[in-house]
Amino acid sequence: MEKTFDKYRAYMKEISHLRSVMSLLSWDQEVNMPENGAVARAEQMAMMSKLYHQRMTNDNFYELLDYLHEQPSLSEFERKNVALTLEDVRKIRKYPESFVTELTHHTSLSYHYWHKAKTEKNFEIFAPYLEKMIALKKQEAEILGYRNTPYDALLNEYDRGLNTEILNKIFTEVKEHLVPFIHHILPYMKDFSFVFRQSYDKSRQWNFVLRMLRTMGFDFHSGRQDISAHPFSIRIAAGDVRITTKNEENDLSEIIWSSIHEAGHALYELGLSSQWEGMPAAEAASLSIHESQSRIWENNVGRGIAFWKYFFPWLQQEFPSQLTDHTLETFYTAMNSVKCSPIRIQADELTYHLHILIRYEIEKEIFENNLSVNQLPTVWNEKYRQYLGIEVQHEAEGILQDVHWSHGSFGYFPTYSLGSFYAAQFYAKAAIDIPELEIQISQGNFQSLLQWLRDHIHIHGRMLTSEEICRNATGEGLNFRYFFTYVSDKYESLIKKISV
Ligand code: ZN
Repeated sequence: MEKTFDKYRAYMKEISHLRSVMSLLSWDQEVNMPENGAVARAEQMAMMSKLYHQRMTNDNFYELLDYLHEQPSLSEFERKNVALTLEDVRKIRKYPESFVTELTHHTSLSYHYWHKAKTEKNFEIFAPYLEKMIALKKQEAEILGYRNTPYDALLNEYDRGLNTEILNKIFTEVKEHLVPFIHHILPYMKDFSFVFRQSYDKSRQWNFVLRMLRTMGFDFHSGRQDISAHPFSIRIAAGDVRITTKNEENDLSEIIWSSIHEAGHALYELGLSSQWEGMPAAEAASLSIHESQSRIWENNVGRGIAFWKYFFPWLQQEFPSQLTDHTLETFYTAMNSVKCSPIRIQADELTYHLHILIRYEIEKEIFENNLSVNQLPTVWNEKYRQYLGIEVQHEAEGILQDVHWSHGSFGYFPTYSLGSFYAAQFYAKAAIDIPELEIQISQGNFQSLLQWLRDHIHIHGRMLTSEEICRNATGEGLNFRYFFTYVSDKYESLIKKISV
C-alpha cells in the first residue's frame, strides 16, 4: 500500500461506503422490510460488519496509519484525522476475536430474554443474562483500559474524555438544585394534556409536521421522514440523512416533539463536512453533543413560546375544531407540564434527569462496588421512591423498561442528560451572539440559529472533544448553571401564569 495521505483518505471513503450500506440495511429493516426478511437480513448485516471489521483491522492499513501520523509533511488537520483513526484501529485490534464472538452472541440472547422478561413483567427471566452481560462489560473495560474506574472505560466509548469525576460533579448539582426545584413547582402544575389527547387526523398531523420541519431548515432533498415503531435518525451518507417518527391519532404531542428531536439530530449530521466524508473530521463528536443538537431544537426552541407564536396559528388552521377554543398560553402550558412518572421516555424536560440520575447511580454501583444483579429491582424501586416519590407497580415499568442494558450499553444514559445541559449552554450563548434570536424564531426564521450551530458545533466534526467544543463555543466547559437558569426562569414564570 502506497503510504500517502490521499491513500488514507481514499481508504476511509471506501470504509464509509460499507457503513452507508449497513445503515441503509438497518433503516430498511426498521421502516420497510416484511417480517419474513428478518433472517436473511441478520445474515447480510453480519456479513457487512465482518467486511467492515476486516477493513478496519487490515495490517497494511495499520502500517499506513502508523507511518503517516509521524510524517512531518502532514498538516495539523491531516495529522489529527490520522491520529483519531489510528486510535480507533488500535482499540479494535485490542479485542480478542473470541471475546467479540462471545459478546455478539450474548447480546442477541440477552436482548431476547430482556424482551421476554419485560413482556412477562418478570425480572428473574432476564437476571442471569444481565449478570453475564455485566461480567463481559467488566472484561471489556479491562481490555480497553482506564485510569480510575472500569466504568470510565465504558463512558469513554460514547463520549471521549468523559469520566465519573465529571459526572459526579454534574449529578451532585442535579441532586442539590434540580430535585428540590422540581418538588417546589410540582404543587402548581395542572394537567392540560387533554389539549393533545383529542382525535387528530393522522394525515393532517403528517402534513403539519413536514411544513414545520421544512421551516426549521430540514432539507428534504437531503433527507426524508418515515414512520417506525421507535423514532430514530440515521445518516446514510452525506446528503442522505433520514428520520422517523410515530403518528398517533389520539396524541398530537408524539409526532410533534419526536419529529423536532430527530430533525435536530439530522441537522447536525447534515452540517458535518461532506468534503471529508468517511474521516473523523466529518463524524459526530460524541453522543452527548449529538443529543445536545436534538434537544436544543426539541426543548429550548420547540417548547418555547416564540416557536409556537409562529406555529400555533398554523396548527389551529389545520385543526380548527380541536384547537380554536384553546389559547397559545394553554397550549404552551400543556407542552411544558411537569409530572413525576415511572417511565423515562415519557418524562418531561425536568424529571427526565432524575431518571438518568437513578441509572447513573446504579451503573456506578455495579461497576465500582459490584452491586449484585438480584438486588437491582429493590435498589431501583427505592431510588424511584426517593427521587420521584413513585411506587413502581411492576418490573416492566421499573427495572425492565429500557433496552440499553440488554445491549450492554452501560455508560450510555448519562449522555442524554449531558445533551440537555450542553443544549442549554449553547442556546444561552447563541442568544447573546444573536440578540434578535427569539424575535426571529417567533417569525419562523431559524437561519441564524442553524448557522450558529453549524459554525460553532457542526464544523468541528470529531476533531474536538465534547468539552473542547463547549469551551470553543461558549468560552467555558460544561456548566450545569445554564440548564438550571433556563429551567428556573421558564418554570417560575409558568407557575406565576398558572396561579393567576
Ligand atoms: Zn436523541
